[in-house]
Amino acid sequence: MPNAIAQKIKALKEQIPSEVTLVAVSKTKPIDILQMAYDGGQRVFGENKIQEMSRKWAELPKDIHWHMIGHVQTNKVKYMAPFVALVHSVDSFKLLKEIDKQGRKNNRCIPCLLQVKIAAEEEKFGLTKSQVTDILDSDFVAQMEGAVIVGLMGMATFTDDKEQLTKEFSSLQLFYQQLKTPYQFTTLSTGMSADYPLAIALGSTMIRVGSALFGHREYPQQSTA
Ligand SMILES: *Cc1c(COP(=O)(O)O)cnc(C)c1O
Repeated sequence: MPNAIAQKIKALKEQIPSEVTLVAVSKTKPIDILQMAYDGGQRVFGENKIQEMSRKWAELPKDIHWHMIGHVQTNKVKYMAPFVALVHSVDSFKLLKEIDKQGRKNNRCIPCLLQVKIAAEEEKFGLTKSQVTDILDSDFVAQMEGAVIVGLMGMATFTDDKEQLTKEFSSLQLFYQQLKTPYQFTTLSTGMSADYPLAIALGSTMIRVGSALFGHREYPQQSTA
């Protein structure tokens, strides 16, 4: 009898096209929950904090692909460089340079996505489209050995407004289509629990789903001391 999480993963995978990759977003979830997903066949997990991801990597089977999906501080890249499978959230040239440096040190070429700002909200991280093309056309990127850019990531506005979401995903899909062949892109990472069906309809090749698989996240209470 498969466990409840394994069943949810199976049901979700049956809903999505086989060429779309499911990243199980396991941030804040304990090891035993991740193990249940693993037992259900899931091998790709997404985390948003380097320390938490490193701890889970150390404790869980080594054939898991660990994806960093959250904002990364450059001084912490070294902790994930030995094992991270994909960094979704490259939102500055400075960060890309540090990933390249740490990739070289570890004799690795670390796959990266450039995070494009598509949401209307102020606080979301990401590059503008012209920043993306400036990075892609730079001499630095032409000579990178420790990192490689394999596509784009975007986070839509947190809203139920389907028209707004469609506008944001479509604009990113068009941009991705323009870059795909010249830059040999393979991956467009868009879509979360609330919006993945629409994201897939609008070109996503990789969805990042957390709460729809694992339930709502509980964050530790802030200390009042
Ligand atoms: C937390 C998170 C997700 C998953 O969100 P859900 O709504 O729980 O599916 C996806 N992408 C990023 C970047 C996240 O931080």
